[in-house]
Amino acid sequence: MESNHTNLRIPGPTPVTPEILKEMSRFMINHRGDEFRQLIESVTERLKTIYETKQDLHILTASGTGAMETAIVNTLSPGDNVLAITIGAFGDRFANIAEIYGADVTILRSALGESTDPDKVTSVLNNNPNIKAVLVTHNETSTGVTNDIESIAKIVKQDFGKLLLVDGVSSVGSVPLKTDDWQCDAVASASQKGWMAPPGLAFLSFSLESWKANASSTMPNFYFDLRQYKKYMEIGQPPWTPNLSLFFALDKALDLMLREGISNIHLRHAKTAQKFRDGVQELGLKLLAKPESASDTITSVLLPDGIQAKDFLTIAKTEHNVELAGGQQSLASKIFRIGHLGLVSDEEITETLSAIKYSLEKLK
Ligand code: PMP
Repeated sequence: MESNHTNLRIPGPTPVTPEILKEMSRFMINHRGDEFRQLIESVTERLKTIYETKQDLHILTASGTGAMETAIVNTLSPGDNVLAITIGAFGDRFANIAEIYGADVTILRSALGESTDPDKVTSVLNNNPNIKAVLVTHNETSTGVTNDIESIAKIVKQDFGKLLLVDGVSSVGSVPLKTDDWQCDAVASASQKGWMAPPGLAFLSFSLESWKANASSTMPNFYFDLRQYKKYMEIGQPPWTPNLSLFFALDKALDLMLREGISNIHLRHAKTAQKFRDGVQELGLKLLAKPESASDTITSVLLPDGIQAKDFLTIAKTEHNVELAGGQQSLASKIFRIGHLGLVSDEEITETLSAIKYSLEKLK
């Protein structure tokens, strides 16, 4: 691949094209001047288009975890009852952030590889009337499973009227997430995922409901105090010095994304994912996720018995220059993952599948 020496098939950072990378070498500008005001306003508007939101959206110089933390510390107070729906490592992280800031967290956990059964959300909310907010991962990167956020949101918002905070780090910009239509109150994402930019910027949409919750929220915050972001955005500035080079890169990436069109991007991700799922199954491998909840941005593949994850990943990298991801936590020795968010060419799909085939045969 021309833009990236290694065929980087991890779930972020995703490959960045030369034209986007080139933007990173631009001269610095005054982040409190007119030129940056135009840039931040235009980047924010285009992010909102892709997020499908007309409500607030703020850009943080942070990674996705920073946006998740921002969602929590700007809406909740210590002692608040929170439901954390988790289907893997990133759902656990969201729950953990809330716990560290003093929320009283009830966890609804699914088996690794499965998505959340919406009926279970109804039943936990029925049994816990004091719950104020629900945290949920849209696309669980550690297992390659996508939650049915539309159904979960309907329950959380329409049936129970709770605040809905969504980790959309590996979904927004790649697979459909209708922030306003589905009434998601805060949705976090990060530049190194489907946005095709390098890591370091995080995004957070923030609804009117979230602002209402903010008015009584007492969790401590400073760098991530969204009231500062809102106040400064009125004059086209962020409160703190932003990563300008990443703004330049993101500006270009958003141009490319909007030129392609959101529905075309979603379709492209669905087709690419299907090619990977078909391809690995043709090699005789089994997928961790069930077909109905398999992610269109990450594919988790079960390692055949006797194959060590580390050896397999090393051979694919050193002998085929294809970088795959291992499993996380208890899945570390059981699966490998293929990241396919952002740009993936047919040639890279073929190259990845041959690297997998070759590495498995070599280890047999
Ligand atoms: N949530 C999900 C679903 C993710 O995929 C990631 C990154 N892999 C994160 C949260 C954390 O994002 P970051 O590493 O950018 O902090």
